[in-house]
Amino acid sequence: MKIIFATNNHNKIIEIQSMLPKSIEIMSLESISCLEDIPETADTIEGNAIQKANYVLEKYGYDCFADDTGLEVQILNGEPGVYSARYAGEQRNADDNMDKLLSELSNKSNRKAQFKTVICLNLNGTQHLFTGIAQGKITKEKIGNGGFGYDPIFIPDGFSESFAQLSLETKNEISHRGKATKLLLDFLENK
Ligand code: IMP
Repeated sequence: MKIIFATNNHNKIIEIQSMLPKSIEIMSLESISCLEDIPETADTIEGNAIQKANYVLEKYGYDCFADDTGLEVQILNGEPGVYSARYAGEQRNADDNMDKLLSELSNKSNRKAQFKTVICLNLNGTQHLFTGIAQGKITKEKIGNGGFGYDPIFIPDGFSESFAQLSLETKNEISHRGKATKLLLDFLENK
């Protein structure tokens, strides 16, 4: 089966593609000539995932899945959450976002945080949501060169390395997107 993944984030495509069986092939937005930025203006992570999947269905007529992720920091009442991508401004720069978060937490001892991913799948006229959560803590400085986004400042529970130090395989086993993707795959394989 072929299915469109509604994202322009190359890192996300690599992560999800590496988890898929050969029987499921991901198609890019480029392959349907959807080259614009898809709006993400909802005020929840679920809402953004739904908005992106519905955009592709309504504007291009294709079934697809879309994901949205946020980093929720306990002592900041769940911020940056749905605003994670633009936390430090419209430039959506990962280093700026991490610097801002490290500075907000500079004098805080509670560093508990979680990544949350929601995947929205539109398939044959029905919508399905799959949620994955990875709990952990925010470091005091950036550690590691792998991954993307906030990976260098997030240490998942049960590990001493940041997401940016873990292999793709290990990150997929325990990450928010890995868990949501497993639920999506179970659904697609058993339908
Ligand atoms: P979005 O889901 O692409 O809108 O991502 C929201 C924000 O979370 C962006 O700043 C991403 O870089 C960041 N993000 C998404 N997934 C991950 C991840 O697996 N690790 C670290 N940061 C992530």
